[in-house]
Amino acid sequence: MSIKGKRILLVEDEGGLVRTLTDRLQSEGYVVFHAGDGDKGELMAAGGKFDLILLDVMLPKKNGFDVLRDLRKQDVLTPVLMLTARGQVNEKVVGFKLGADDYLTKPFEMLELLARMEAILKRPTPSGAPGATTASYSFGPFTIDFRTMEIRNGNTVIEMSAREFQLLRFFIEHRGTALSREVILNNVWGYESMPTTRTIDTHVTWLRQKLEENPKFPKFILTVHGFGYKFAG
Ligand code: CA
Repeated sequence: MSIKGKRILLVEDEGGLVRTLTDRLQSEGYVVFHAGDGDKGELMAAGGKFDLILLDVMLPKKNGFDVLRDLRKQDVLTPVLMLTARGQVNEKVVGFKLGADDYLTKPFEMLELLARMEAILKRPTPSGAPGATTASYSFGPFTIDFRTMEIRNGNTVIEMSAREFQLLRFFIEHRGTALSREVILNNVWGYESMPTTRTIDTHVTWLRQKLEENPKFPKFILTVHGFGYKFAG
């Protein structure tokens, strides 16, 4: 996949970070646009065709969460990678509920940012609109709506915690790939928190109970022995 010419909207108010990011992203081949506050960021995001938005949380005029929520309300489905402050784990949950695609905690390594950006840009955009993120996904009898965080079996809504939803979403986004427990921990629980790998197993058990016809012989969330899990839905 080529990232050449992909349009990035950077909504960030820290001048130094703006300069560093802009320089680096441009040298990678991205076309970078910048907004220094939440109001301007939202206006630009709603009016322009961007492939990805890098959205800071703490912004003048309007914070990143409000910007994201209002963009999604306007059906602007451009992928959003949020830049959150260290230790604000709850922010990630809020962000996921509002429809962010990924998170990075400041301070972050440039290479990590570039890798996450590429991962988001590689995702299919089945709705047809350029830059639109996947709004829903179906597997087996289930349909999952990423924006409302709802999963249904026919007309029945499956009750799910925010964390179970995040885990399922991560599986879906990486379907067919064997995912180690460490990777799952880092991406779903975040680098700051320290849950044990057993936490993952517990959540997988819960997901299987909700999604699998026979949780003992799962068809969707498969165990990769001695390693982790793989989503086959
Ligand atoms: Ca800021």
